[in-house]
Amino acid sequence: MYFVSIDDDVCTGCDACTAGCPAHILSFDSDREKAYVSGDSGDCMGCEACVAVCPSGAITVMEM
Ligand code: SF4
Ligand code: SF4
Repeated sequence: MYFVSIDDDVCTGCDACTAGCPAHILSFDSDREKAYVSGDSGDCMGCEACVAVCPSGAITVMEM
């Protein structure tokens, strides 16, 4: 089981991470211009595609 979090203070709002998540648990808040975990973090597969695509290192995926 994995836990994913996005650091608001580090996210630059590029929206690169949301489309590629195979678990569809990442969304983009266009008002705040930040990505966030909109689904159940427990559905994360730990693929780290989001981590790989994030240019600012805002996303952390941890195995629980
Ligand atoms: S590690 Fe993979 S499944 Fe988990 S949030 Fe990132 S892209 Fe989605
Ligand atoms: S890829 Fe990184 S910087 Fe870009 S929206 Fe996602 S978390 Fe924010």
